Amino acid sequence: MPEIHCLRCGKTAERMTENLFLGKMEEEIKDHVCQECWNEWNRPGGVKTMVINEYRLNLGDENARNTLKQQMRAFFKLPDATAEFKDYRH
Ligand SMILES: [Zn+2]
Repeated sequence: MPEIHCLRCGKTAERMTENLFLGKMEEEIKDHVCQECWNEWNRPGGVKTMVINEYRLNLGDENARNTLKQQMRAFFKLPDATAEFKDYRH
């Protein structure tokens, strides 16, 4: 099993194998994000939901999808993240 180094939590973990349906970002996310951090983002009521609610994103809208993508990059601490991530759950 190939291992990756998660940029968000700093742990070494097995690379995710399930399909994340991320299109162009799929490989990048799998190379840099562990399952645990992905679940935190993606689970029902998780960080993604928080971002969608907080920014009132309508995902039928391209700008909204870009905002979500930027927030995702920032949350996972990907190198070229252009947005700040604020955790509104606290
Ligand atoms: Zn992680």
